[in-house]
Amino acid sequence: MKASKRIALVAHDHKKKELVEWAVYNKQILKEHALYATGTTGRMLEEALGQDVHCFLSGPLGGDQQIGAAIAEGKMDVLIFFWDPMEAQPHDPDIKALLRVAATWNIPVACDRSTADFLLTSPLMHAEYETLLPDYSVYTKRKIQ
Ligand code: PGA
Repeated sequence: MKASKRIALVAHDHKKKELVEWAVYNKQILKEHALYATGTTGRMLEEALGQDVHCFLSGPLGGDQQIGAAIAEGKMDVLIFFWDPMEAQPHDPDIKALLRVAATWNIPVACDRSTADFLLTSPLMHAEYETLLPDYSVYTKRKIQ
């Protein structure tokens, strides 16, 4: 991945305030990167940061899956996902799928504020980075007779 990262941001409803506060605190660093988000989170971030945020659909309408697809296609570098551990979500399968695909493609993921702080202050946020992947040729080349 390049020095300037494509960062996906998602926050469940009770976590949105926390994510927006975190983003505003880190506004100067975030300016150096391209931001993407699920619909509602993205609109709130855009207003608070005064920075363009590409908004996918709202999470429950498929936004998490859109971000997952972008990760699978190599179009997303980092995921900041403040999911709510205290409330069941209607799109729980999509949330699991997003976290699974992020692990599949070995992208950095922060699910809470302290991890997001550690991630954003890593020197690797401003450097090129070679993402190592397992050998997936068993999947990419397989044929079922
Ligand atoms: P939202 O989606 O940003 O549109 O609220 C987030 C989610 O619940 O996944």
